Amino acid sequence: MTGQRSSKHHRNTTGGRITIGVLTDWIEQRYQAGIYMGIADVAEKKPFNLMTFPIGSLREPYDFISQRNIIAGLVKHAHLDALIVLSGALSNYITYQELVSFIEQYRPIPMVSVGVPIQGIPNILTDNKKGMKDALAHLIEFHDCRRIAFIRGPEGHQEADERFQAYQQALSEHGLSIDPELVMHGDFYWTSGTRAVNELMDTRGKKPSHDFDALIASNDFMALSALKNLQDRNVQVPEDVAVIGFDNIEETSLIIPPLTTVGQPLYEIGEKSARMLLALLDGKELPEETVLPAELIIRQSCGCLSRAVLNICLNIPENPAPHPEKIMNAWFSKLPEYAGIGPEEPPVLQLLENFTNAINEDCDHRFIKNLNNILQRHGQANQRLSEWHDILSHIRAHAIAQNADFPDVSMRIDRLILQAHILVGDWERQVQCNLANYIESHSVTLSQVNAALISTLDLQAMMDVIALELPRLNIRRCYLVLYENPEGGELPEWSRCMLAYDERRRFHIEKTGIRFTTCQILPERMLPEKRRFALAVFPLFFQELHLGYILFEIEKTVPRHYEMLRHQISSALKGALLLQQHLKTEKELARSNEELEQFAYIASHDLQEPLRTISSYAQLLNRRLSDRLDEDTELFLNYLTEGARRMHTMIHDLLIYSRVSSHIKAFQPTDLNRLLQHVITDLSAVIGETRTQIQIETMPTVLCDSVLFERLFINLITNAIKYNKKRTPKIRISAVLKDREWTISIRDNGIGIHSEHHNKIFGVFERLHSRSQYEGTGIGLAICKKIVERHGGRIWVESTEGKGSTFHFSITTTDEKSSAETGTPE
Ligand code: ADP
Repeated sequence: MTGQRSSKHHRNTTGGRITIGVLTDWIEQRYQAGIYMGIADVAEKKPFNLMTFPIGSLREPYDFISQRNIIAGLVKHAHLDALIVLSGALSNYITYQELVSFIEQYRPIPMVSVGVPIQGIPNILTDNKKGMKDALAHLIEFHDCRRIAFIRGPEGHQEADERFQAYQQALSEHGLSIDPELVMHGDFYWTSGTRAVNELMDTRGKKPSHDFDALIASNDFMALSALKNLQDRNVQVPEDVAVIGFDNIEETSLIIPPLTTVGQPLYEIGEKSARMLLALLDGKELPEETVLPAELIIRQSCGCLSRAVLNICLNIPENPAPHPEKIMNAWFSKLPEYAGIGPEEPPVLQLLENFTNAINEDCDHRFIKNLNNILQRHGQANQRLSEWHDILSHIRAHAIAQNADFPDVSMRIDRLILQAHILVGDWERQVQCNLANYIESHSVTLSQVNAALISTLDLQAMMDVIALELPRLNIRRCYLVLYENPEGGELPEWSRCMLAYDERRRFHIEKTGIRFTTCQILPERMLPEKRRFALAVFPLFFQELHLGYILFEIEKTVPRHYEMLRHQISSALKGALLLQQHLKTEKELARSNEELEQFAYIASHDLQEPLRTISSYAQLLNRRLSDRLDEDTELFLNYLTEGARRMHTMIHDLLIYSRVSSHIKAFQPTDLNRLLQHVITDLSAVIGETRTQIQIETMPTVLCDSVLFERLFINLITNAIKYNKKRTPKIRISAVLKDREWTISIRDNGIGIHSEHHNKIFGVFERLHSRSQYEGTGIGLAICKKIVERHGGRIWVESTEGKGSTFHFSITTTDEKSSAETGTPE
């Protein structure tokens, strides 16, 4: 007895109802979903609320999964009355001690641990050892295997170690030696099964059927991947090597050949853990350990034929075999686990009575009809029907034994049983089709939801999509929470609830969400008080970025879409948040640019006045004292005047730069041929002095601000003249139209620009030469860039040092006529 009582623990009732938490790694996999179904059944009957936390394996090293662990921090604050911890599922990557201290943090909440025994709290364990030993005994005694390879689970993991010990014990109990060369390490994950076979066959050079005739893995994932690896190598399973797994996950019955495995009574584990917690809350004492049996589930991968096929040949039972009624009752008692079908009066006796009547009366169809009804009901619940073949074989064997002296009756028995087998086969097919149909329509809905989500980059619109689409997937309640300033791996202090709906209504929530402290999980009074809930908290994250979490109402038979939705919503959210961030930065940037321009304008404007004073008084001094000045003073005064002049130019350029964006003249169709004539006239002095030759091709008419465009050409042409050492600088100005966009080019035969500076030169104050080489402020090209961008185009340069430069800029044409008029070839 643990002696654990919970009467002192404060009960946190919601609407007078208690809430039990479930702490697990995932919820959709068969092991976890099977246990959950048992818990959920009790929750419905009692009733109590459920709050599940699928926090991922603790510190799992793959695919950012450990990011999920963050929501473990919410468990303490969830006002739970009791907690079921699937400790086996959580602890694949941590030591036993680490698991114990992890669980410690939740005391004094009354707890039950499933899978790994924790001192001081009641534990539900499976007899792993017996299950594994049964599997080995089956291989050794029934299939005569002698060299059995083994893939271990993570070392230090309680269940994994137990399964390995069982392997060692079973071998020695059968007088077989343990060959360490046949033992491989694994970590319970898919890839480690593949790796183990590579190690066994490639590294250690073991040959199938010769060096090893069977392979057992300590869980199904590793067994399935090992089996696939063997088949890829053309090793026949089970002829060359028999394969057995552990856990009985769903995929084991769906592959070829179906995998023989050891099943845990998952539903029973869940049901028991919930009932134990209720007893604990009532102050009852519980045993520290409750051990449930594990069952060997024989399929074909070990070399057996399907039981259904074998049992057809069941003959008159020599040793009293179980009566069909017993077998049927046993099967019916498992139905909740397999299909979530509620308790029903097993119509076993009725069915057997129908059968007895039918074998005596040729035209009595009640047996087939009754069986048909049962099959339909079970089929609708997506329940496995294959067990019926087994039940029918037993019914047949018993009936034949009882009527051995009546050949007529025996014939009728066989005919009736054959009909029944065909009926079962028909319904099995129907169930498969139904399932395939369900999966297809479900995945269509899922992909529609996904498409709707990813095409919505606005956060608010995304909340609308979720509220609209998720009910289509039968998600009756959903609450979405975003962290505020999520930094580091810790839960942030504040969060915002952005969306909340239940089956009755969608809560009205402002665009900015409802702010609350994260440890509350949801804002006050949001959880239903009167109605029972079964919610699961899924973390929302994108790689390293924690976004928040989403609570879904979970169905009892857990469908496999919560994780996919979680993932889709996380990705969509990340996109929306990125865009929001981008727009915010853009806005801030635009504002600060505006402020900067404003500042530059005011500063340059106001600076001109004192500058003029300095320069005029320097000139005045120079003039007045010209004959009395010594050489040095005259030089200093000249520096002063020259400095003031340069500063004047710089301020002038800066003023132009800052005015480009505020220049609000409407764009007019402008004939660039005429505009360039003005520019050339303005620059005629410098053109003449430098003997520059300028060739201008036919230019188009474009929509632009002519004052700004004049400035643009002046800057580019003066640069083309200035950065040129040739006796005759040559400039060619041309225009090309492509895809409704003009590219205007100004080519020179000047000094050229090294490619590493091609982008840099368009920045403010970026110069490649000292003032003693070339006069300038470094603002000219920045002005050009601003002008071009204001017209929706871009500017760039093509140049090789020493071989001249060509500056190009683009401008879109919205006016068909402008291009047609110029006649410029496209
Ligand atoms: P500034 O001419 O006042 O220095 P700009 O912004 O007009 O400033 O030009 C920036 C730099 O780009 C110049 O310093 C020069 O090194 C280089 N540059 C500009 N135009 C040309 C050109 N046509 N040929 C070679 N270099 C050029």
